Amino acid sequence: MKSSKSLKSPPAPLFQSGERNEVQLRHLFQSSGRAGVSHLETEVILSHVLGISRAMIRARPEQIMNSEDQKRFNSLIYRRLQKEPLAYILEEKEFWSLSLQVNSDVLIPRPETEILVEAVLQRLPDEPGIQILDLGTGSGAIALALAVERPHWQIIATDKSSDALAVAIENAKKLAVTNVKFLCGDWFSPLLERPIHQRLFHAVVSNPPYVSADDFNLNQNELQFEPEQALIAGESGFQDLRQIVTQASDFLVSKAWLFLEHGYNQREQVLFLLRKCGFIETHDLKDLAGLDRVAIGQKL
Ligand code: GLN
Repeated sequence: MKSSKSLKSPPAPLFQSGERNEVQLRHLFQSSGRAGVSHLETEVILSHVLGISRAMIRARPEQIMNSEDQKRFNSLIYRRLQKEPLAYILEEKEFWSLSLQVNSDVLIPRPETEILVEAVLQRLPDEPGIQILDLGTGSGAIALALAVERPHWQIIATDKSSDALAVAIENAKKLAVTNVKFLCGDWFSPLLERPIHQRLFHAVVSNPPYVSADDFNLNQNELQFEPEQALIAGESGFQDLRQIVTQASDFLVSKAWLFLEHGYNQREQVLFLLRKCGFIETHDLKDLAGLDRVAIGQKL
């Protein structure tokens, strides 16, 4: 699902022919503002195209932009006008203070997922030998944040999309992270090839798809550029959560933890299933918007 799907027609030039070929930055702000892109976003896009800081752009509004850069700028502004998320346009998103590379093969990491990372760091000891499994890692956000914070932990991150894993592996390289191993496959399935003693973890963590098809249709404008398979789950968004909760015990040592991000209306359903599957200490954390977001349980 490449973002280019939205480019139904070629980008309309922001400048009509006849205008000067060389243009000052402050004029670019005026024209993209007229087209409907905010000053802030224009500044961020300009900084990306020119490879200079936003402070530098503010300090030199009279700076001239050459026609090559103008072309790139125009095409990025055009993508933004089509409502493509800025993270895909810049090919970058900050998560847990890490700069992560993203593209349309992966979900854009969300700030609410940092709550899950925090919860894991709080509950597991900062000791060598701790083994963590991150299911459906996408860009690698959760696994890499944990790996950076806890270099002595050993982390396995899986994803069924090899395109997503390529992004995660690239991010690990850029961050010089060496304690995450990436495996391709659906949920727990890539682990089944491993010897039994390498299949047990101190925590399983996941931000699986949990949006119902109905909610997706309602929010399509915002979500249309992200991979559907990372967002939508069957059974009104519960299918993957159900699969993970029901299988997790087989991959956890005694007293190990399960951490799951879920949708704003799935708290009761997830906690009920956790208890039914034998988890204790079950509780739920809210995100910064006050919405139920992360379920936690401990294996007996
Ligand atoms: N938090 C995302 C959203 O609501 C969904 C992420 C997911 O399905 N895991 O847009």
